[in-house]
Amino acid sequence: MKRWIRVFTISIFAFAAISLVFIQFTQTRRTVSINDNMFNIGVTNAMDEVIKQISGDVLLPDGTSNAPLPDSVPAPTFRYQSLDSLIGEHLLTNGIDIVPVVGIYDESQSTLLYASEAGMERDLEDSPYRYVFTPRDAESGTQYYILLSFPAAQLFLQRNSNLLAYASLILITIIIIMFFVSIRALTVQRKLDTMKSEFINNMTHEIKTPLATVSLACEMLRDETICNDEESRRNFLGIINDENHRLRVLVDTILQSAKMSNKTFRLNPKEIDVHPLIEKVAQSFKLTLANRGGVLETRLEASPSVVVADEMHLTNLIFNLIDNGIKYSTDAPHITVATSVEEGWFRLSVSDQGIGISKDDQRHVFEKFYRVSTGDIHNVKGFGIGLNYVAQVVKLHQGHIALESELGKGSTFTVSLPVD
Ligand code: ADP
Repeated sequence: MKRWIRVFTISIFAFAAISLVFIQFTQTRRTVSINDNMFNIGVTNAMDEVIKQISGDVLLPDGTSNAPLPDSVPAPTFRYQSLDSLIGEHLLTNGIDIVPVVGIYDESQSTLLYASEAGMERDLEDSPYRYVFTPRDAESGTQYYILLSFPAAQLFLQRNSNLLAYASLILITIIIIMFFVSIRALTVQRKLDTMKSEFINNMTHEIKTPLATVSLACEMLRDETICNDEESRRNFLGIINDENHRLRVLVDTILQSAKMSNKTFRLNPKEIDVHPLIEKVAQSFKLTLANRGGVLETRLEASPSVVVADEMHLTNLIFNLIDNGIKYSTDAPHITVATSVEEGWFRLSVSDQGIGISKDDQRHVFEKFYRVSTGDIHNVKGFGIGLNYVAQVVKLHQGHIALESELGKGSTFTVSLPVD
């Protein structure tokens, strides 16, 4: 997808999503406000009815609720406690199904005479729901209030109990999530595109270089003076052989790495003596190392040195590790290949004294296509597949790989393969 189309799509999507959120927010606020008003009207109506019903009654304080009424108390009477259910009933008939905390407040004494729930006194005194009433036996000048307090959480639910508002909130959330998922998909797609073109560029370079070297060596061999000089002839044939080997490993690494992702992929394991294999691979770097004034040291101490493995993949693994060691050494490369057997594991380590890998990058170097962003540190071509291939081969052999590295000092890759 072209850049401007992507930016345009994301902008339109963002605009639509933000507008939708804004419209829905306004709508929900209006709904909440309407619900709020309806709730208040419902409470006022219910309380008007309650007060009308009890205002001619005699007020019987708490504590006398279960005692028989004294003869001196004229009927009708009501008790504090009976207020709770009376208010509850009237609220319900007005469409409010929340049970409030009820209080009775004596304004002249500034005291709360009754609270239906202990510990709610403060809430009641601060509540905006207060209704004047005058019991029959009230002294003149005495002002009583019925106070109501609604539990906050229930109140919120009651006021927002608009199904549509909830449904649209959920839908908006889904839209926003999908928006971010799409943006992420687009970003990943773009990253893949970049990786693909980088991969093709780097691969072209990696293939072109050995081809050019081989073609140059062939040209040289055609020259009669060189052809007749045995040492030069051997030298150029060596170059052709090495470059041919390099190309084969390169093609193997790319093809096998793609095949390994397939679940039906199978290894071809057999008993292999690893030491001669290492010597053979090391041999193919002889010329490259000589050209760069480098050395490859072997410390092959494993005994026995036999593992059950796929020969082709094990060869490529060793080749990739040594090749990287040489590629990522700025001065004359110094590579050490060592083997040992420890507690049922065959260990093969390849160390270099090259540029090293930072702690952050160490976590990613085994990922497919990952290449350390180099800046000015090195200008080595590659396509970030070698170490991923190595890690896959190790995993398929039920082994593991460890990396120790320090920037500027060098790296050691240790492959451990199980032995009986
Ligand atoms: P490539 O070498 O083709 O880029 P690899 O998968 O072999 O891909 O390596 C991934 C990255 O890890 C390389 O780009 C390089 O930055 C880093 N790396 C690998 N081996 C070494 C090493 N021996 N020393 C320093 N850096 C290394």
